[in-house]
Amino acid sequence: MNETTMPPRYDVAVVGAGPAGASAAINVKNRGRSVVLLAGQIPFSHISGPHLIANFAGFGETTGEELAAALGRHLSAVEVPVVTEKVTRIVRDGAGEPTDGFVLFAGDEIHRARSVVLATGVLLEGSIEGEEDLLGQGVSYCVTCDGRLFAGRRVVFISYGPPGEDEASELADAFGVEVTYLPQYQADYRLAAGVRVLEGSRPERLARVDGGVQVTLGGGRAGEPLVADAVFVSREAVAPTALLDGLETDGPHLVVDGRLQTTVPGVFAAGDCTGEPYQVAKAVGQGQVAALAAVRLLREQTEVVAGV
Ligand SMILES: Cc1cc2nc3c(=O)[nH]c(=O)nc-3n(C[C@H](O)[C@H](O)[C@H](O)COP(=O)(O)OP(=O)(O)OC[C@H]3O[C@@H](n4cnc5c(N)ncnc54)[C@H](O)[C@@H]3O)c2cc1C
Repeated sequence: MNETTMPPRYDVAVVGAGPAGASAAINVKNRGRSVVLLAGQIPFSHISGPHLIANFAGFGETTGEELAAALGRHLSAVEVPVVTEKVTRIVRDGAGEPTDGFVLFAGDEIHRARSVVLATGVLLEGSIEGEEDLLGQGVSYCVTCDGRLFAGRRVVFISYGPPGEDEASELADAFGVEVTYLPQYQADYRLAAGVRVLEGSRPERLARVDGGVQVTLGGGRAGEPLVADAVFVSREAVAPTALLDGLETDGPHLVVDGRLQTTVPGVFAAGDCTGEPYQVAKAVGQGQVAALAAVRLLREQTEVVAGV
């Protein structure tokens, strides 16, 4: 891709549209900077249930659904562009200099931004043993990016929610892949004809073996060998360390400094992904702190370039 076909570069890309990401995007916009909110397939998912929220100041007793609707209204009122695709990878743009910014891959689109705020929530399921080691070497999160590499071959598709059904069906229909679907949730699965479903089995470990990747199963099918050419994993969130190289974590949380900058300069984090307490008010507050820190960094970079 040459410079003329490159997508425009936003000042800030926010990943995740829960309370932290929505707050970050609104605050970047309020500072007159350009922003894109990469929201995942189900925006606001962790708050958008019917559960009662009684401790978010100013709202009295509300529900997750009402709060999610309020966030959605606020985002559209200030005209934040929202992309309902999950980010699967972030890399440095250009020559990788601190001021070059980042490229974010989401579905079949790419987005560019000078700075990034990660607001991806906390990964409740945890990743599978071996998953991160095999990423790009037999494990993938993205059918659009990697589906064609496995055309006509065998794939185990591990899915933590219904959005995986479309992706697995796409592998079977568009690429003629022999798909074994391992749902980690219960529903009426809507899958393309020919997709085999293995219910009640928990993936415990992924390992490279001759001829592909072996999935060690627990639960109802413990001990049954399952080998495929590749394993695709679909969950709401991707572990941040799998998204971007150089991020340090402390358990499931990203390490951040006082300005909520991660260990990758130019990348900030807010909300549950930075640690406990897992609370809406803290997420909204950190979204603002991260947004203002990102804007301040951009201003400092511009001043240095201009020799101010
Ligand atoms: C049942 C329940 C009850 C709760 N009750 C309360 C309460 O009463 N009071 C309270 O204060 N808090 C409560 N919480 C906690 C509160 O919901 C969280 O603390 C809050 O939602 C955290 O906001 P967040 O933006 O950090 O993360 P989240 O709300 O988890 O949002 C993160 C978003 O990022 C998206 N995402 C992740 N990875 C990617 C990616 N790679 N690309 C794009 N998008 C991505 C996810 O899909 C998700 O939509 C409750 C939570 C639950 C589950």
